[in-house]
Amino acid sequence: MKAITVEPKKPESARLEDIDEPDFRNGSVLVEAVAVGICGTDAEIASGKYGWPPPGKTRLVLGHESLGRVLEPGPTSGLKQGDLVVGIVRRPDPVPCPNCAVGEWDMCRNGQYTERGIKQIDGYMSERWRIEPEYAIKIDRTLGLLGVLLEPTTVVAKAWEHILAVGRRAFWEPETVLVTGAGPIGLLGALLGKQLGLEVHVLDRAETGSKPELVRDLGATYHTCSVADLGFAPDIILECTGVGSVIAESISKIGPNGVVCLAGIGSRGALPKMATADTASAAVLKNNVVIGSVNANKRHWYKAAEALARADRSWLSRLITRRERPENFKQALARAPEDIKVIIQFSEI
Ligand SMILES: [Zn+2]
Repeated sequence: MKAITVEPKKPESARLEDIDEPDFRNGSVLVEAVAVGICGTDAEIASGKYGWPPPGKTRLVLGHESLGRVLEPGPTSGLKQGDLVVGIVRRPDPVPCPNCAVGEWDMCRNGQYTERGIKQIDGYMSERWRIEPEYAIKIDRTLGLLGVLLEPTTVVAKAWEHILAVGRRAFWEPETVLVTGAGPIGLLGALLGKQLGLEVHVLDRAETGSKPELVRDLGATYHTCSVADLGFAPDIILECTGVGSVIAESISKIGPNGVVCLAGIGSRGALPKMATADTASAAVLKNNVVIGSVNANKRHWYKAAEALARADRSWLSRLITRRERPENFKQALARAPEDIKVIIQFSEI
């Protein structure tokens, strides 16, 4: 079967090649790939900056934002042939640490977790893949191809759960949320904010294109100014850019008792204009909390599937701005300015 593979840590090593049928040890459920979404992590792995092959191998099958159709449900899954499923990405560490032991592999303490398509387990960019029944999430049939958005939705489902958990440490009735960055994570985060009944604001640099329209059609407000220039102090900021200046301004701008959730990954950038002690003092005097949030456990996968099932299908479909065939994986991995979510489609739905 065809698969998109890469030799981790080796730049320009990605290729579409024939590999063996999926290993039975990866699970009793056999799935035909429908589509796989591309994110920044895939581009990083393909450029040789990240990723680990399975033990004893040199190449890794790429892909962690899956969508597939069940071919063989196996004896224990309860799934039926033809069901649409998405595969959970992370597996608990083998020790396991206390958090993995209770199913919170997203909070793994020892870093020995594994991840499909990223860390030591083959991913989902192959014509067929196998999965353990307990890691296959069945999705609402009517979502169809939009099920490929489930994995990025799990990331924001977790972020929202943690934001609300932190907020409830005191009396708290949040009204406004600012989402910084209108990429797939930001837009899906904004969608969940609307579903929670909040007044949603989204800030991004793009002045034209589909991002402002998507935000407006969600019933949210779009901003292109800096966070510092916003005319209000949000109760919640979901930071999805990973840009230093946006992070620093978010921590200064957040309202009293507010929560800043950092969900973007960045590096370096300009030094902050505000001294660390001044930023900290502002947070102290406003009882602010800054949290980081990554990955998702099974509870968040379940919640994200519910959130997607509730969402407007035509709005969700506009998040997928480009579909590529597996042989065009290089174009799929290259970001174009107008891209929101690019997917590689393996089979028709
Ligand atoms: Zn762990």
